[in-house]
Formats: sequence, structure tokens, C-alpha cells
Amino acid sequence: MNNALRQEYFAALGLESWVIRGTAAAAVEPREIPVPVVGSAPAAGSALPAARATRQGTAPREAIVAREAGADWRELRARVAACTRCSLSSTRTQTVFGVGNLQAEWLIVGEAPGAEEDRQGEPFVGRAGQLLNSMLRAIGLAREQVFIANVLKCRPPGNRDPAAGEAAECLPYLEQQIALLQPKIMLAVGRISAQNLLRTDVTLGRLRQQVHRFGAAQVPLVVTYHPAYLLRTPTDKRKAWDDLKFAREVCASV
Ligand code: SF4
Repeated sequence: MNNALRQEYFAALGLESWVIRGTAAAAVEPREIPVPVVGSAPAAGSALPAARATRQGTAPREAIVAREAGADWRELRARVAACTRCSLSSTRTQTVFGVGNLQAEWLIVGEAPGAEEDRQGEPFVGRAGQLLNSMLRAIGLAREQVFIANVLKCRPPGNRDPAAGEAAECLPYLEQQIALLQPKIMLAVGRISAQNLLRTDVTLGRLRQQVHRFGAAQVPLVVTYHPAYLLRTPTDKRKAWDDLKFAREVCASV
């Protein structure tokens, strides 16, 4: 990417003129990458979601974690489209399966569809989606190169936080998407996404700038802010930029 274009992306992010030296691969100064400290390797059936699911009266996590194993993309998409496993099926306009390159190295995981996503059937559209696209472009990635999904495939009414039981019911779909995609890196955007994927209540601020691991494949997972939050809190865009550089560094090391 030429420098003029990169500066354009930084402008889109609302960042001042920050220059990455050299090529993408050499852009970040080498330093030791910390390996899992918090929320690492959330093995199937770990305590927190199981407890949450039980509180919600849903099936224990152990029972549903591999529910979608074996489904190919077509079958999985059909199962999601027909899903009535939680009450969000009665209020959605449509499911939001996810979008992107099925050979993508990067998997971006958000929280849940919002109103516009519910209408269009695609994650991260509207202003937050445009900012996400700019964030990706700032590290040399086109939206078409990544795969974008959410923890929940249906919109919670009023954009409320997902209930623990809803997340527990829906996560097997994402887990099978990950099994099919085999990404090199996952980028969890926003607190809800990070906490559900890592099965922790630790704050987003403490989850940033670490390499976590997801699932049996131990996929490296990096946490950053949700673009919708960054639109409300532009002063944190610099931290998001640090997270993106860190994630790119992690991806290059895999
Ligand atoms: S949110 Fe997930 S589990 Fe609930 S109905 Fe939608 S697809 Fe099914």
C-alpha cells in the first residue's frame, strides 16, 4: 500500500498522520508477543458458560459445543437460517450468517446484528461497518479478504446485550464457521464479543494487547474496540490502531 493511500485510511479513522515504516511485514518493530495470559484456550465446556447456560435454563455447554460439527458451509448456512434455538428467532427480520472470503486468514467477530444488519442480512454495515472497513484497510486488508461474523446470528431487540443463554445457544454456529475457515487469527471487536469468546468477565481494557487462544485449534485471538464504540469515543481510536498493528504482528508470526 502506498503512503498516500495509507494516510487516506488514517484520515478515515480520524487518526493523525502516523507513518508505518517499510513494508507491511516489517512495519512493526519486533518484540516478544505475550502468549495467553487471560482467557486462554477456552476448552469445550469450561465453567463460566456452562454455569451461565444452566442459569438460563438452556442445555449445558458440554452438550452443545460440538452440535454443528461436520456441517459444511451450505448446511451450516441453512441451519442458521432455520434456527429457532432461542427467542431471538421470533423478533429477527432475518439471520445474519456472516460474510467474506471462505479462505480468509482473518476472522473478525463482533457482538450481534444491529437494526441495519438485521434489515440487510450482513454484519457490520452502516457507519460502524464503514469504520471497520477503514480499520482493516489501514492494515492493508480489504473487507473482501476477511470473514466477518458475530457471536449472535440474530438481532437482540433494542440492541440490548445478548443474554448468556442466547450466546451459549448460538456459539456452536460460530465454532463450526471457525472449524471450516481455519483462520490464522481472530479479531474480537468489542467487549461482548471478547467476553463471550474468551468466557470471561475481564474488562476489554485488560484483554487488549494480549494473544489469547480460541478453541481446540488454539487460534490466536486479539481483542480491540468495537467500531460503534469508536464512533462514540474517537479518542480511543489510537488504542484501536495499536491493537490492529499488534494483531497484524501476531498474524505475521503464525
Ligand atoms: S441467535 Fe442464534 S441460537 Fe438464537 S435463534 Fe438466532 S441463530 Fe438461533
